[in-house]
Amino acid sequence: MMNKILVSACLMGFKVRYDGSEKAQMTDQLQRWQKEQRLVIHCPELAAGLPVPRPPAEIVSTDDQDVMQAQVRIHEMTGQDVTEHYQLAAWLALRTAQESGCTAALLTDGSPTCGSQFIYDGSFSGQRKSGMGVAASLLAEHGIAVFSEKRLADLIAWIDEKER
Ligand code: SF4
Repeated sequence: MMNKILVSACLMGFKVRYDGSEKAQMTDQLQRWQKEQRLVIHCPELAAGLPVPRPPAEIVSTDDQDVMQAQVRIHEMTGQDVTEHYQLAAWLALRTAQESGCTAALLTDGSPTCGSQFIYDGSFSGQRKSGMGVAASLLAEHGIAVFSEKRLADLIAWIDEKER
């Protein structure tokens, strides 16, 4: 069975990041997977109705409590609480992945939505901390293997192992 991969739209060159930029990582491998129709390109924040551009947002938390349980909140730099928008973004990413039959996700690190190895610490000062964004976390909780773009080699190995 071919394992399909939910991939962050900004990694595929779509200018959907908060500042209207992309983070294209069009490696040969991604091009091959795209030709195989293995990729499901998705931006959870856009799917949830957030505009481009939009103010940067960070998870405001001092520990690892769960945004999906509303134990911690997501704020824009303006101070606006946008937690519900980001919770919706996470649910839509999960629904898209499940409806498309994705078993893995390749997501842009650092994002309060797609981050999987690090996020920003909520102070809007560029400080990173280890942690996951809301969509990455929800996908992982539902059994979807989540990889950041820095872990493409791990995803390739994971697919190879699954399809051997
Ligand atoms: S929500 Fe994910 S796909 Fe959309 S711009 Fe942010 S990192 Fe990229």
